[in-house]
Amino acid sequence: MLEESHYYFHKAADVLDLSDRIREMILTPHRVVKVEIVTEDDAGKLVHYVGFRTQHNNARGPYKGGLRYHPHMDEDHASALANLMTWKTAIAGVPFGGGKGGINCDPRTMSKTEVDRVTRTFVERLKGTIGPTLDIPAPDVNTNAEVMGWIMDEYSRHYGFSPGVVTGKPVDLFGSLGRDEATGRGVMYALREALKDQGKSIADVTVAMQGFGNVGSHAARLIAEQGGKLVAVADHLGAVENKDGLDVPALMAWTTEHRTVNGFPGGAPFNGADVITWPADVLIPAALEDAITEDNASDVRATLIVEGANGPTTPKADEILRDRGVLTVPDILANAGGVTVSYFEWAQNIQQFRWELDRVNDELEKVMVRAYSAVRDVANQKSVDLRTAAFVLGVQRVGRAALARQATRETINFD
Ligand code: NAD
Repeated sequence: MLEESHYYFHKAADVLDLSDRIREMILTPHRVVKVEIVTEDDAGKLVHYVGFRTQHNNARGPYKGGLRYHPHMDEDHASALANLMTWKTAIAGVPFGGGKGGINCDPRTMSKTEVDRVTRTFVERLKGTIGPTLDIPAPDVNTNAEVMGWIMDEYSRHYGFSPGVVTGKPVDLFGSLGRDEATGRGVMYALREALKDQGKSIADVTVAMQGFGNVGSHAARLIAEQGGKLVAVADHLGAVENKDGLDVPALMAWTTEHRTVNGFPGGAPFNGADVITWPADVLIPAALEDAITEDNASDVRATLIVEGANGPTTPKADEILRDRGVLTVPDILANAGGVTVSYFEWAQNIQQFRWELDRVNDELEKVMVRAYSAVRDVANQKSVDLRTAAFVLGVQRVGRAALARQATRETINFD
């Protein structure tokens, strides 16, 4: 995955004509931490996991990024996702750098108390390197507000009351109103802006979606509220389709109870792998990386892809889609709503102040609209696709901040 995120970076660096020296300075992570987590399961058996945190770049502010609990989590994923965060926070214009981490455990096979114990051991090992002005984790795949609450609690045991150490917390524990749905809401705004450019609105389109977790389910609900039709959705255990449109609130209630879309009575089951090539106007990958590859890109039938997930499209697939005229709103723009409201949460924590939900959503909308139009402007100016434009904008902003922090040997033009 690291190779793929580097590929997109270098493509943007070519557009900016950056030297190898500058590329190495900006792309190399500042710190990669690995911790061993040895603890007990509920039966008293010893369990051993490995935790990671990559702090990629903090030129524009403290490292910021999610924590993923997944059996495939490793240093490569942490570092790839961390550098995506660096460009994403810059595109959104929030005062953070990029970081990412996680643990190679599978919480779907663990009890709540087991996840709590593993999380606390992780924080205990990592505590000197995270903090409200150093590095601020947030939820990602298989982590949620509850886990963020445990992180805040464990960190605060050592350093005193510190709500700003982590975002995406429960609202009762100084989380922000609207954070839970923020990434999905941002995806909906990104879709709306891209459609506007084509003279269409959300009510005009059908949507196929891979992944129905935090990002996917909220995006689907908000899209349905705007009149869009979710015609197919797949998760890791099953898939369901309905050409008249799935009842999204009912599907959300079903997945809350059953932890999968599988078996939902309001539609027909289908082979989940087919969701990528489903006949729909819009495809929203909102699960994991490498969903759209050279094997299925030629068969994608959507004409617009909005990347809710991080890294869902491989570089080869990206080329195929571009050649076929499929428009992609890239991850580092489309899913920036989460980190944007994380910034609002952090600001509220520092000020010990709470924003109303309307204010959160209004400010989020402004950020997403501004970010989308800034990326589209770069795409037009440089005659490049939206993904390359997004990387160009992110790299420009990070590069300028890095240069402004120190006297440099050379003049570098980030234009
Ligand atoms: P989540 O754990 O809440 O949900 C993940 C979903 O993906 C689940 O529905 C799961 O069943 C599905 N899934 C997993 N493997 C699959 C497979 N092989 N095929 C089909 N479906 C599969 O995670 P999330 O927080 O919604 O994150 C999803 C993506 O969005 C990730 O790439 C994450 O990095 C990215 N993201 C999340 C946030 C956030 O705020 N949570 C912010 C930005 C980006």
